[in-house]
Amino acid sequence: KKASYARLRDVEPFTRDGERIEVMMNAGLRDDVSMLAMTGADGIGLYRTEFQFLVSAALPQRERQARLYREVLEAANGKKVIFRTVDIGGDKSLPYISSEIAKEDENPAMGWRALRLALEREGLMKSQARALLEGAAGRELNVMFPMVSEPWEFDAAKAVFDGQLSYLKDRKHKLPTAINYGVMLEVPSLAEVLDLLLPRLSFVSIGTNDLTQFLFAADRANPMLAERYDWLSPAILRFLHRVVQNSMGHKIDLGVCGEMGGRRLEALALLGLGIRRLSITPAAIGPIKELIRRVDTREITDAMKGWLANPPQNMRAELQAWAEEREI
Ligand code: PEP
Ligand code: MG
Repeated sequence: KKASYARLRDVEPFTRDGERIEVMMNAGLRDDVSMLAMTGADGIGLYRTEFQFLVSAALPQRERQARLYREVLEAANGKKVIFRTVDIGGDKSLPYISSEIAKEDENPAMGWRALRLALEREGLMKSQARALLEGAAGRELNVMFPMVSEPWEFDAAKAVFDGQLSYLKDRKHKLPTAINYGVMLEVPSLAEVLDLLLPRLSFVSIGTNDLTQFLFAADRANPMLAERYDWLSPAILRFLHRVVQNSMGHKIDLGVCGEMGGRRLEALALLGLGIRRLSITPAAIGPIKELIRRVDTREITDAMKGWLANPPQNMRAELQAWAEEREI
């Protein structure tokens, strides 16, 4: 099996009906980037920049941040990299500000974290914005904001980047060749107002880890709940279906970057919903590419339509049988 995945490294993930699915990988450490060449992933769909913060004893200086971003882009060798601005707080507590968070937050996952924290710690956001703009000088920069719950949060975050961009422009610094902005859709409220924000975005990436926890009000870190709510439950799939429908007709790239996309039946379901970009853990790239090459998206789309309209309690058994019938 291992050898056949290695063979798939250089094979492009086309479905049987000729749809090119983008298969990207999630990363968080500079060394992860070497997995791009090893797996043949199309790029990094989620680079978790908070890892550098989590492994540092103190807030990383702007120069150190910029160096990391530059090195990541160099190592990616022209493949697309989507940098997510810091998602700290919640399950990722930080020694040098966590005491403050712990004081205030009884439910850290729903608390002062990610963009909520970054927008109030203006220095943190500004230095990361500048570091990303500097690190991507001469290259394309893709920036994604986590935990956006309402459109104004995106606007406020982008304004910080615009401010840093004009600072660098005024001083005649070398700039990125292009800058694309997008959001993670992981807080359900954003889905209700997504149409208001889409015209200002280049891409949307659905974070199914947090989205599931918020949709079901079920802590993603609690082992007592780990088996209870399934990614293949009608509630999740109908929710995702609505997001896909609402995004149609807008010029954005829509993808999924949560763990869901790296699992066979879940990936199959996502293809059936119309998702054409997955960003997944590197170990899943080979198996998911193989799956993609066996699927006819027209068939799975039809099947999914039926299941969504008249859903069983859980679609796992249906998807399993469907896949087995077709030797997928
Ligand atoms: C998610 O929430 O689905 C996600 C991809 O981000 P993280 O796991 O880092 O919260
Ligand atoms: Mg998340």
